[in-house]
Amino acid sequence: MSVRAKKRFGQNFLKNIHVIDKILAAADLQIDEQVMEIGPGLGALTDRLLQAEVKLCAVEVDTDLIAMLQERNNPRLTVVEGDVLRLNWSHLLSTTPCKLVANLPYNISSQVLFKVLDHREMFSRMVLMFQKEVGDRLLASAGSRDYGILSVLMQTWYEVRRVAQVGPGSFSPPPKVDSVVLQFLPLPETRFTIDDEEVYRKFVRGAFTQRRKTLRNSLMASGWSAAVIDAMLSAEGIDPQRRGETLQLEEFARLSRFLTHNKA
Ligand code: SAM
Repeated sequence: MSVRAKKRFGQNFLKNIHVIDKILAAADLQIDEQVMEIGPGLGALTDRLLQAEVKLCAVEVDTDLIAMLQERNNPRLTVVEGDVLRLNWSHLLSTTPCKLVANLPYNISSQVLFKVLDHREMFSRMVLMFQKEVGDRLLASAGSRDYGILSVLMQTWYEVRRVAQVGPGSFSPPPKVDSVVLQFLPLPETRFTIDDEEVYRKFVRGAFTQRRKTLRNSLMASGWSAAVIDAMLSAEGIDPQRRGETLQLEEFARLSRFLTHNKA
């Protein structure tokens, strides 16, 4: 069946079997374990997951592809039609934790990661393909221009590893950008103690709200009072002229602990 790829759904279908092999190896699949796939598309990755004899829940938004996916008639495969960002993930799977494996539609990859962060208990491992620039951000360290909210949040809860670099020729149609496959292994505990996750996530967002400005100004623009910020920076020995993008994970954790215990 010939299908015209839809740009609005970020459809670049994988055709390089070596890349699929690497994704599967990084997923370290066990027979009968539950896997969730976002955007099965024409099923290149889906079919290999099914060969690995997992129980697969595949979520696809493109109604034109649903019938073809269901025609596989494989009892191990459940195809769910819908927008993965709108579906209630807690209702999707009968057993968790599961593994999340996907060649993500690049236009929604950041939103998928924020949703993953809201459902961390669901996933024992993730292997995901991103546009290279997004991958660079997820792997970035403090001080780099790629370092941002998702670098900090994902590295707080996961060991993030690069599995493969993938060129445009591995897809049909070829995207205009390079891609990268990353593996996310949940850490048994956060790297540094976080007493209130909500405060931590709000603080990380605030530190990057105006990344060209100082941490102090960026946090004030996000609603914290000057008095609280100054007390925090002074108590924790942080130079008020520093920018949020220079903070290490340990510093994000320490400063957010101060905010948790010293509400204005
Ligand atoms: N997994 C296939 C492969 O590797 O060849 C297709 C990957 S393609 C990059 C992304 C897939 O995600 C497409 O099938 C697209 O229709 C689907 N998709 C896009 N937006 C989606 C959404 N919001 N929810 C679920 N699926 C989505």
